[in-house]
Formats: sequence, C-alpha cells, structure tokens
Amino acid sequence: MDVKIYPRAVSGVFAKKRMMLVLATQAIFYGLPWINWNYRQAVLCDFATYKFYLFGIVLWPQDLIYFAIFILMLVMFLLLTSANFGRIFCGFACPEVVYSEIFFLIERVIEGDWLARKRLDCLPWVGSFTKWRIKGLKYFAWIMIALWTGFTFTGYLSPIRQLVISTLEFQMNEWELLCFGLYTLMTFCNAGFLREKICKYICPYSRFQSVTMGRETKIVFYDGMRGEPRGGRSKKADRLSMALGDCVDCGVCLQVCQMGIDIRNGFQYMCIDCGACIDACNQVMKKMGYSSGLIRYARENK
Ligand code: SF4
Ligand code: SF4
Repeated sequence: MDVKIYPRAVSGVFAKKRMMLVLATQAIFYGLPWINWNYRQAVLCDFATYKFYLFGIVLWPQDLIYFAIFILMLVMFLLLTSANFGRIFCGFACPEVVYSEIFFLIERVIEGDWLARKRLDCLPWVGSFTKWRIKGLKYFAWIMIALWTGFTFTGYLSPIRQLVISTLEFQMNEWELLCFGLYTLMTFCNAGFLREKICKYICPYSRFQSVTMGRETKIVFYDGMRGEPRGGRSKKADRLSMALGDCVDCGVCLQVCQMGIDIRNGFQYMCIDCGACIDACNQVMKKMGYSSGLIRYARENK
C-alpha cells in the first residue's frame, strides 16, 4: 500500500514558473465564463440549445467534426510535447497537478510544512481540539475551492449568470446539479486525497509516455557521473580526497517530490518533470559551494 507523501515546500526557478502557470490557467478557467461577447456568454457549451459558443463562432451538433479535429490536434500537441520534453505538461499545466498545487498551498498555510503536517497527522482525533480545529479549517477551505470550481465548470455548460440565480434559489435542474456535484467531488477528492495516485495509476498519459520518449527527449535527469559516489561531508571537506561525488546524500530532492520518487535511481515513469528536485538540489549545491545542475533537464544523447 502507498504511504502518504508529505512534500516539503520548495522555492526556486521552476517553483516560480509552476506558480505562474497555476495563476494564469486558473485566471482563464475562473474568469472566462464571465466574459460576454455580442450580449451573450463568450464561451458556452449550451446543452439546453445544443449550441457551442466560442466568442463570435456558433457551432451546432452537425459541426462536431471541428471538435474532433480540435481533439486530434490536442493529442498531437501532447505527443509532440512528451516526445520533446517528457511529462512537462503534467508537471506544469495538467489540471490534476494544478489543483493539487492549490490544495497543497492551502495545506501548507494552515497546517505548516511537511514535518508539521506529519506531526499533526500523528495526533489522535480523540481529545485533540487542535487537530479538529486545524483540519476543520483546511477541509473548509478545500470545500470552498472545490465548490467554486464545480460551479465554474457548470457555468461553461449552462449560462453562468442565470446559474447564480438558480443556485441561490435552489432551482438548478438535474443536469446542472449532476455536473456541479460531480466536478466538485472530483476536485475535492483528486486534489485533496488521491493526488499522485492519479498520476501514477490512473492517468493513461504516463503509461504511453515511454512509447513517445527517446534519447533526444529532454527530461529531469540526475547526473550520476558527477554525483556518485554520494556521501555526507562538511562544507569545508575536500571531496576529492574523500573520493566522493557532488551528491551529499541529503535527501532533499526526495523530500520535495510530490510523487515520492528518488530521481537518483534513474528515469521513472512516475516522474512528472516538475523540476522541484532541481530547485531543491540547486539550493544544496549553492550552500556547499558546488556548481548547480547536478539534477537538471537534459537529453540522453547530449
Ligand atoms: S538534493 Fe542533490 S545533493 Fe541532496 S541528495 Fe538530492 S541529488 Fe544529492
Ligand atoms: S523526481 Fe523531480 S521532477 Fe520528477 S516528479 Fe519528483 S520532483 Fe518532480
């Protein structure tokens, strides 16, 4: 059985890029249904009238071919991306990772970093007011985000302004309720509890990734030639006389990994190429006075 992963917070170039992408994608997702175009919602897949509005374009069921072409282009884009950059889409833009990132952020703010979260989980529920208070606050924040996400998703299928009124008056129809409920539940469970299990065991993209990848694919890579033999040492120690590589075996790269994998064991299909271990290791290298890039994005043939 999988053990629960408590990823440690990390800062650095890739953490910043990931956060910027989270903000950009969520600004689009939450904001788009509120934009109007020609006195109607700009983007709407209206199930009631069987029409799909995309700014100035209106598509009917007989135009389904355009949707098929769009899906085909999306698949091609994903295949090309993974052939060139591995699972970079998973690490930076996949909704599962994006929502997990948001939920992690809330968790860190409310419960603290990884060790504080571990300690909190070890406390018994019975008689621990602190645990009830902190966990309760976290679940409340998660539920609010999940509800807003479910509502926004439903707002792409039913005019969002009318949806506000029907929600306030408890008059959503069955389809709206179903979409709203399912998407809310999925967001809450996937981002709050299933997290890396979705990427490891459920998502088909990780499974066919090995088919699309080759020696020229740029992926997160641990430079074993430089890092091994690994071993702890003080900052002042002469690693050459100790016959040690650059890896100080601190384990920080593993602690920050939300997939719970050790990149030093070589390529693993679970790696989503998020770059968190790169940021973490670069900080360690800086502290030790070594050059950065022991873990980096690299191609096998270069
Ligand atoms: S963070 Fe870098 S130095 Fe530390 S264990 Fe990982 S690879 Fe080695
Ligand atoms: S090994 Fe590194 S790049 Fe891969 S998922 Fe873990 S932290 Fe991200």
